[in-house]
Amino acid sequence: MLKNRKKLTFVLSIAFVLGLTVILAQFPLYYLESLLYDARFLLKPQTAPSNKIVTVALDKKSLEIYKRAPNAKEHTQLLQAISEDKPKLIISSFKPTTTTFKGDKNSFSMVFFKTSPKELSEFKSAVQSIGNVAIIMQELFSQKNIAQANIPEELSGLNVRSVPISKDEANFAQDNVSRRTLIEFENEPLFFTELALKENGLTSVDQVRGVFNFRTSRQIMTDIRKAGTYKALSFADVADRRFPKGAFTDKIVILGVDTLAEIEDYVRTPYSRDAIAMSKLEFMANMLDTLIQNHAFKKTNENINNIFTILISLLTMFAVFSLTPIQGMIFVFTSALMFTAVSVVSFSYFGLWIEMAHPLLSIFICYYFFIPYRLIRENRKSWEYQQKNRLLKQVDEMKSNFLNMMSHDLKTPLARIQGMVDVALQDKAKLNETQLRALKTINQSTEELGVFISSVLNLSRIESKEVKLHLESRDVNQIIKEVIQKYRFIANERGIEIVDELEPLFSIKMDPDLIRQVLSNLVENAIKYSPDNTKILVTTEEIDGKISIQVSDQGKGITKADQANVFQKFYRTSDAKDSTIKGSGLGLYLAKYFVELHHGKISVDSEPQQGSTFTVQLPMDQ
Ligand code: ADP
Repeated sequence: MLKNRKKLTFVLSIAFVLGLTVILAQFPLYYLESLLYDARFLLKPQTAPSNKIVTVALDKKSLEIYKRAPNAKEHTQLLQAISEDKPKLIISSFKPTTTTFKGDKNSFSMVFFKTSPKELSEFKSAVQSIGNVAIIMQELFSQKNIAQANIPEELSGLNVRSVPISKDEANFAQDNVSRRTLIEFENEPLFFTELALKENGLTSVDQVRGVFNFRTSRQIMTDIRKAGTYKALSFADVADRRFPKGAFTDKIVILGVDTLAEIEDYVRTPYSRDAIAMSKLEFMANMLDTLIQNHAFKKTNENINNIFTILISLLTMFAVFSLTPIQGMIFVFTSALMFTAVSVVSFSYFGLWIEMAHPLLSIFICYYFFIPYRLIRENRKSWEYQQKNRLLKQVDEMKSNFLNMMSHDLKTPLARIQGMVDVALQDKAKLNETQLRALKTINQSTEELGVFISSVLNLSRIESKEVKLHLESRDVNQIIKEVIQKYRFIANERGIEIVDELEPLFSIKMDPDLIRQVLSNLVENAIKYSPDNTKILVTTEEIDGKISIQVSDQGKGITKADQANVFQKFYRTSDAKDSTIKGSGLGLYLAKYFVELHHGKISVDSEPQQGSTFTVQLPMDQ
């Protein structure tokens, strides 16, 4: 029945985990995933740039030098200066229009100052004569549909290419952060893809690492470096030829804006949500370099993500069901941490993007779903325990009451029997041998019964917490002598010698009745459990401010396993139970209780067949 219930719980839990995974998979959790994606950038070591790209920025410094945006003449100068240094290609994102410095939402800033149509045509012919110049626009168009592209009049006749800069605006995380690079549009590689394939020797877009389809495009996740990795040269410096010779030789040179004046010239990155976190110029360098180095991040297969989610949910479930709450919490936390570590390392060193949002969320859901279930289960268990406990307590109380009543009621008739025996024994002469022996046996049995009854009474006093110490200043040695005296006769009858070696001691505060009971029990046991004609040694000494009393015998000894139990209520060793030696198993329990009431300790040291030594230690000051 229980087994079946366990099986059912197990099957239901697995079903829950699988169901949860399927349901969670319906929610892409883009925003959460992007946060976790970006966090990995912060932990990741930077990829070194390829050194094939140089950027030139129209920066604040240039604006200060010109005291305005550069005009067509200065743009021509810039192109010529770079061209003389033999670059591989010049890519300009400046949009040559006659309008002055003004942003355009969907394009790069227009930075030609009051340019007349004549100056503009001179600029265009300079571009054409230099040859390897591409003018790029942010508008997305394929070369085959270039006619439909919204290319301004001023650019007609030039090599105009599309370099779109995407951001998660309406799709994915919708947080306006730029993470992706479009590499193909309408089945045609985009400009940067074309360039990169030439550089890195790949033959097709399919070979680009981490490529995925999105609507009519194909894209990759850009390996963005921290802003400032690609340091741009200043427009004015380059136009005036203030740059180290060879700076552009054989390089791809990208020209762009970084004046901090227009928000449209900047993107937000995984490193920062600031609207001007990185210039589009630098972001383009990152896009192109990711492609050249073929270093985009590759998202793991959806099935692998689901397996991670299932695995981690199962682990959480195991932790909640099988471990203690603290252990469970540590386990769940550690497995989440380990999963995070695996994701971070895969991202940093293998360029693998393992989805984290679903597995982490499933930990959370599983934890909070199963914890209440476990609480209910535990509550029920503890309620059952409580019920059982109450019942046991009642039974225990009934037993105590019964023993108490019985002992009290037995005491009077017992005293009467003893009195009668004493009377009968007064006139021994009238009794024959058999009668005398019978009376002696009655006497002995009533004594044993008396001891038993007083043990039971003591026990019920202890259990009802009635025992109070009546402290008096007494010499332990004196009590020991009285006890030995009491038992000497029975010992002698069996040829057992009781020897004492008592060191003179100061009197200490104690309850003499209780201590007498303790010592009587030890001496009586030593006699009871020793063979005839042996010796018992009782010693006292003062050690470290404590009085130590030892009772050693040459009896059958106590095994190690029994030593751990002899101080328990009603415990008797199997040897003792099998023998004819009478006992209740209460003596040592009471002795321990009484010694501990005096803040003392009682212990036993014994080897089977080597005798036993019981030690009582009592503190000198109570
Ligand atoms: P009992 O009334 O049975 O003597 P105790 O509580 O005094 O009960 O002792 C518990 C058990 O410890 C005894 O039944 C016996 O088995 C064992 N025991 C106690 N003292 C000795 C001893 N000196 N030598 C061997 N066994 C002992």
